[in-house]
Amino acid sequence: MCSAYYLQKEGHAITIIERGNITDGCSFGNMGYMSPSHFIPLASPGIIAEGIKYMLNSSSPFYIKPRLDMDLIQWAYHFWKSSNAKTVEKNAPHLNNILQLSRHLMNDMRHEIGDYFDMQAIGCLMMCKQTKTLHHEFHMADDAEKFGLKVERLNAAQVQQLEPDVELNVAGAVLFKDDCHFDPGKLMNTLKDHLIKSGITFQLDTTVTGFEKKDQKITAAITDKGKFDADEFIVATGSWLPVVAKMMGIKLLLQAGKGYSYTYPFVEKNIKYPAILVDGRCAITPWGNKLRIGGTMEISGINNKVLIKRMQGIYDSAKEFYPGLKIGFPPADKIWNGLRPVTPDGLPYIGRVTDYSNVIFAGGHAMLGISEGTGTGKLVSEIISEKKTTIDINAFRTNRF
Ligand SMILES: Cc1cc2nc3c(=O)[nH]c(=O)nc-3n(C[C@H](O)[C@H](O)[C@H](O)COP(=O)(O)OP(=O)(O)OC[C@H]3O[C@@H](n4cnc5c(N)ncnc54)[C@H](O)[C@@H]3O)c2cc1C
Repeated sequence: MCSAYYLQKEGHAITIIERGNITDGCSFGNMGYMSPSHFIPLASPGIIAEGIKYMLNSSSPFYIKPRLDMDLIQWAYHFWKSSNAKTVEKNAPHLNNILQLSRHLMNDMRHEIGDYFDMQAIGCLMMCKQTKTLHHEFHMADDAEKFGLKVERLNAAQVQQLEPDVELNVAGAVLFKDDCHFDPGKLMNTLKDHLIKSGITFQLDTTVTGFEKKDQKITAAITDKGKFDADEFIVATGSWLPVVAKMMGIKLLLQAGKGYSYTYPFVEKNIKYPAILVDGRCAITPWGNKLRIGGTMEISGINNKVLIKRMQGIYDSAKEFYPGLKIGFPPADKIWNGLRPVTPDGLPYIGRVTDYSNVIFAGGHAMLGISEGTGTGKLVSEIISEKKTTIDINAFRTNRF
């Protein structure tokens, strides 16, 4: 939808083909952070050791289910190869570029489509329970400042001052002031309404099943509701990017990373700031009296199976960090889950594919699809309009593995 938003400004006629009806999915139940603070990719030093440590723990926040699946094995190999300081140092500036571009563009988009999605630009706390974790976060804050981000290093008493209504149990936090948060489901609805008003066609409840090809071009998308011709095709199918790529004969390394969340409709004494609970590897977001807790990264294939124990891990962390928060364990049938599209190196795939002259991939944003949405849309419109892209996108090329 972000690509459509920028393309219609350039005068293109657009049809969005979507299997569902844009009322649920990964872009709805996430934590709603727009996080320039997240310039370190998931594949980073220590993550492999952490994954192995957590492997046998069913309430752990990070898990790769071992399977004899060639795609997973290749993905895991490149994930392992990317998890080192040198690659992170190389990739972090690119992640920073698209995150800062997106954050900047969000201010304009909000102004144009109307803020009906409870956006608050008050920053996000990286909350730490252990002193060791806090020191690591302070070190990260130094790196963030090098990228021009505004940060505040806070001790326990200073964090408590920010949350006067709820008792905390933390060593301290870093407040990343450039981050903002909003209700992602409301943003999706607002953007959809805006696009409909702008004349974009939504072809909903329609599944793409294949493509017609001629020479080096895709000429039509074949769906269960008929054929759709177009000059250009943008594939933005999240965790199903490799499935649709395969229909074109293209192999793409990407795994679905399942996450869970639960939204409390009314918390009387609520927190004010969204926060990543760093040692707990989960997150918490307030919108007025509403509160969402969420997290986990479970690489277990494309499925929507809910493992209650993982939600237990998230809930327990929230209670440990905020003992004063009066929230009960979520009802099992109300636990939401979504599939993050995770690339091996933590950078998205944005750009033309090499096999066809009229196909662009836009996806693989992992934990940052909300944070990188506007930037991605803008870049896609620049590629199609044959303009110089605002930032260098070579690192996001689709054939890099
Ligand atoms: C618990 C959790 C918390 C998160 N928190 C944050 C956060 O705070 N900030 C942030 O930036 N990101 C966050 N994320 C990540 C973010 O939600 C994702 O990166 C983002 O939603 C991915 O968006 P997408 O449009 O690429 O994919 P999706 O939202 O999955 O959309 C892909 C669409 O393609 C459709 N589709 C697939 N195949 C076909 C087909 N063959 N034909 C037609 N349609 C098809 C699907 O139906 C789907 O609607 C979080 C994720 C989780 C799980």
